[in-house]
Order: sequence, then C-alpha cells, then structure tokens
Amino acid sequence: MSKSHGEVSRSLWKDVWAGVPVHEVPIVSITNGIHTKTWMAPEFSELYGKHLGDWEEHLTEPDFWRRVSDIPDAHLWETHQRLKLRLIEFVRERVRMRRERIGESPEAIRNVNLIMDPEILTIGFARRFATYKRGALLFSDKDRLRRLLNDTTRPVQFIFAGKAHPRDEAGKALIQEVYKFSRETGFENRIVFIEDYDSYIARRLVQGVDLWLNHPLRPLEASGTSGMKLAPNAGINLSVLDGWWREGYNGNNGWAIGPELDNGTVEFQNEVDASSLYQLLENQIIPLYYAKPDGKLPLAWLQLMRETIRSITPAFNTHRMVKEYAERLYIPAAKSHEGFSRDSCAAATQLSQWKAAIRKDWPQVRIQDVQVGNQDRQNISVGESLQLSARIHLGAVDPRHVRVEAYHGEADNGGIRNPTATVLDQSSQVDGDGNYLYQGSVPASESGAYGFSVRVVPTHPHLMQRHELRLITWS
Ligand SMILES: *Cc1c(COP(=O)(O)O)cnc(C)c1O
Repeated sequence: MSKSHGEVSRSLWKDVWAGVPVHEVPIVSITNGIHTKTWMAPEFSELYGKHLGDWEEHLTEPDFWRRVSDIPDAHLWETHQRLKLRLIEFVRERVRMRRERIGESPEAIRNVNLIMDPEILTIGFARRFATYKRGALLFSDKDRLRRLLNDTTRPVQFIFAGKAHPRDEAGKALIQEVYKFSRETGFENRIVFIEDYDSYIARRLVQGVDLWLNHPLRPLEASGTSGMKLAPNAGINLSVLDGWWREGYNGNNGWAIGPELDNGTVEFQNEVDASSLYQLLENQIIPLYYAKPDGKLPLAWLQLMRETIRSITPAFNTHRMVKEYAERLYIPAAKSHEGFSRDSCAAATQLSQWKAAIRKDWPQVRIQDVQVGNQDRQNISVGESLQLSARIHLGAVDPRHVRVEAYHGEADNGGIRNPTATVLDQSSQVDGDGNYLYQGSVPASESGAYGFSVRVVPTHPHLMQRHELRLITWS
C-alpha cells in the first residue's frame, strides 16, 4: 500500500493502540511497484538499451534514469508513436470483432477504420468499474466533453476499458453509458469502449496512450498500480492525489486533479474534481500536447515524457518494493526469530515472562506531577530549552523497564503539532515506595506557545517495536 494508505490504516486501527499517537501506531506501508519488464514495451527496452545501457541491471538507480535526457526527441517520439499506432490497430480490431459478433451492417464494420487517429491526443482509462473509481466523472458535463472531442484543430480521444462486477448495477450502467456515447454521431470515433479488460488489454493501453486518467474518490485508493505501468513507456499521468500518485507526482511529471477538500460532501468533491479535470485538459494538457514549435515535435510534451520516465521508473517497481520488504520487515523478523529460538528459546521465554509481569504491574504506574524549571511555558524563544522534571510512581515496575519521555511541540488547539519525543533520565529515587524523579531538557524549535506532556512506556531490548505491549501512561 502507499504511504497515504499507511496513514489511513493507522487512523483506522488507532483504537487498538489506545493512548498511542496515531502517527506512532505500528503499521508501516511499503508502496507497491510494477514488474517493469512485464509492462515496458520491447521497443522502449531497446531504446533504453541503446541510449542508456542495461536498464535491468540499473533499474532502481535514479542516476541511471537521469540520462533519459540523452535520448533524442525524434527517437523518443517515434518509439511512442509506433506503440500508439499499434494500440489503435488493436482497438479497431476489437471493435470490428464485436460488430461482427452482434451482426452489424457491413458499413459499420468497414467504419472501424475511422476509429481513432494517431495524431490526436489519446487518453486511456481502464479500471474495474468500482464505484469509488468514479468512471463517469468525465461525463459530468457532456457538452463540454463534446467540445473537447470535436475541436477542429486540437481534438482529444478516449479509450475506456473495464469490467464491472456482475452485481454492481452502477458499474454496469456506467459501461453502458460510455458505450452509448461511443456510438453517438459526431464523436463516435473519438470515444471507444473495450470489453473484458484484462492484462493483455492493459499492456496495449499503457504502452500506447499519451495520458492515463485516474480519479478515485480520496482517500479510498490503497495504491493503484496502473499509472506506474505508463512510466517506462513514457506515458503521462493525470490523476487525483491519492494512493501512489501522492508520492509519485513531483509537480513536473504529470498533473494532479482537484484540490483536496477536508470535509466536503462526495457530491461537492465530484463537482470540484470534474471541473478541475476539464480545466486541466482545456488550459494545460491539450495546448501542451499540440504545441510543436518546430512544426513537427511536441517539445514540451517530450520533456514531460522524460521527466515521467526519470522520476517514476526507478522508484515504483517490484525490485525496490521487494528490497524494502526484506530490509524493513523480513530480515529484522528473521534475525529476531534467530535470537528468540537460540538456547531452547531462552530469550523468548524471558520476554514472555517479562511481558506478563509488566502487564500485571502496569496499573500502578502514575505520573504524580510535572514541573517546568526555568520558563513560562507559554512563551519561549527558538533555541531556548525547557527544564522538565516529573515525579513518577512506578510501584513494582523496575525503572530499568520503562522509558519516560517528554512529548512536545508547538501547542495547537489543545493538541501538539509536529511532536517530538525526548527521553527523560531517571535522576533519583524519591522514596522506598516506588516513586522516582525524571529530568531532562527539551529544546524549543518553535517560538510561541509550546505544548508538552510526559509519558511512560515499558521497554525491553527484545521488543520488536516500541508499542508492542500497548501500554502507555500519560501525564
Ligand atoms: C494494473 C491492472 C489493474 C490494477 O490497476 P489499478 O490502477 O490498481 O486500478 C487492474 N486490472 C488489470 C488488468 C491491470 O493490468
């Protein structure tokens, strides 16, 4: 899942870690990737081989892909156009087969050769027609869409492919709508729907279109991978900032649909996103695609193609993903398994006994009071520090088994913004009843109102993560 979905998941699961700040909920995300060799057209593989070298060897190295600037404009464009033409021929063939199957007239069958034009900006949208993917967004203003399709000098054309779940009535209705649209006079050859979307069709599409459209309802896209498949084929993304595109979009490698609304209704978000989609097409995308300062090549569009290849290809692939799984999760898990199982599982037994004891004694832990030594906590200048001391009752809990932290940052509506946790040191035992004094100094990196709390969490060298016991006591 994407980083963005990591945030969503931590927030969905936060109640399981009651008391733990949501950004510390121990759910991590590793962003999906594509198997590049599967999705990259052989023609592009050859182009990279010729101008950059062995791309498979250097797939995850950003410096290697920076050299796409060495590929001459004409070669990059020709390679793309060849694949686009192949896609168009494939689309015509699919439509011809369908028209024959349902017994259309010889004229209708002959007319498939009028479908699509390789010189026209070609936009792809292929999805499971799940409702949250909002497949009908483009059709929210049909007159405006008609104008885009039929512009005499700078038209656009769309290829839709998809499948709806047999019981998803809304999804099926939408497919019918797109299909009907694709048969209306005036723009019947500018919108086409291909049935039975599968990975073969997906490969043709991602290798042949100029632009890939994606507009799920935020924040419901866990990752989305189809847009990643465009990058090695120099296709550009036009997507809402959700799922992987929140990480993939850098401001220069495609477009982001719609401003983010914090608490608008779904209807309002649909309206805002549709309007943003039309505006981007009309004011930015179409003019850029048709701008050919030398009369032949869309030079600015070619720069966008290069920036897409450079920025997305090395990061959003399965090689990077698997490496990240191994380094962040599997290798630490294997090492700790090794440690736990040594000497007839001595460490595991010890940890388990320790956990049982901590769980039993933890209700005794209380923060008696917290004092600020030297400052008026409401107004602190940058660079100054707060001297904190906390009197903590640990009862039967051994002070070596806890970590006491100041949790601090800019005060914000009763909460703390951009918090930092700073460990406080045990300075003395106050009495024989399990009371201890903890002290430390907390640097103020923001001026103005500064907020802080003190918290106690159990700690042990064999814990896999800091909130494993889900025990936390706050001041
Ligand atoms: C890549 C792919 C998907 C997944 O695409 P999303 O962007 O995650 O919706 C679904 N179906 C096929 C056939 C694909 O190739």
